[in-house]
Amino acid sequence: MTAMAGAIARGEVGGRLWFYANYHCNLRCTYCLTESAPEVTRRELGREQIVERAREGRELGFTALGVTGGEPFVLEYMPELIAALGSELPTIVLSNATVFNDRRLREMEPLADLPVQVQISLDRPDPDDNDAMRGPENFRKVVEAVPKLVERGIGVRIATTLEDPDAADPHEMERLCELHRSMGIPDEDHVVRPIINRGRAVSNDLGVLAGFEQLEPELTLTADGAFYSPFAPTVRGGDLDTDLLVSRTTAPLREPAEMLARIAGSRPAGNDASIGIR
Ligand code: SF4
Repeated sequence: MTAMAGAIARGEVGGRLWFYANYHCNLRCTYCLTESAPEVTRRELGREQIVERAREGRELGFTALGVTGGEPFVLEYMPELIAALGSELPTIVLSNATVFNDRRLREMEPLADLPVQVQISLDRPDPDDNDAMRGPENFRKVVEAVPKLVERGIGVRIATTLEDPDAADPHEMERLCELHRSMGIPDEDHVVRPIINRGRAVSNDLGVLAGFEQLEPELTLTADGAFYSPFAPTVRGGDLDTDLLVSRTTAPLREPAEMLARIAGSRPAGNDASIGIR
């Protein structure tokens, strides 16, 4: 058994290997961890690098894969890449669902036969409230895209990000749940999580603090190195945060995997990682 497989089996490290495919995005949400926008540095990890590290990940004992950004689907090769990853391990890809035109949807159809889920952000049941955080027309585009994915048999989850989930208006949450159910998404595929106070959320004074103590260790690869969690390689003032950098080396994957396993094994007992990106 590899060091990483042992750490995953003991529950010290999450079994999902994450990739930051890129950092640019067609949107510029107020709480974006990566300060993403159309004009930012792309920091693209690269298709071959992702496929090769995913294969190594399966051999090392990872049990699932995740792809995030930026908006992954602004990259032309993303549907094919996700299909390749889904052939290795169950895969989740995070998306804003605003770039799914007819051609893109056709390209995504093979994902229906694979253990792949597209996790789509939808924060509020009212268009104006939702779009105030995520940008004009976001709500309309999401509620148009989700049924098109569902009718093609592609797995979809809805992710809701709120300033304080515990303080959310229950009537509003019920309307949001009625909306996702009406689009064919069951309650078990709806996740609600807090805004994390990193990236653009810091400038806008939003979210909860999250650091080493609060985050579940999950190996996360970017163009700039391997990080402790998918919440770690954030951007502030245009600069990449490196407070949770594990290693500048990402290949071979065994190197950052062993480093993360050692770090995670040294966390004090009773450490309560309570924030998940999923
Ligand atoms: S939160 Fe997601 S959709 Fe919004 S700007 Fe950031 S990467 Fe883009």
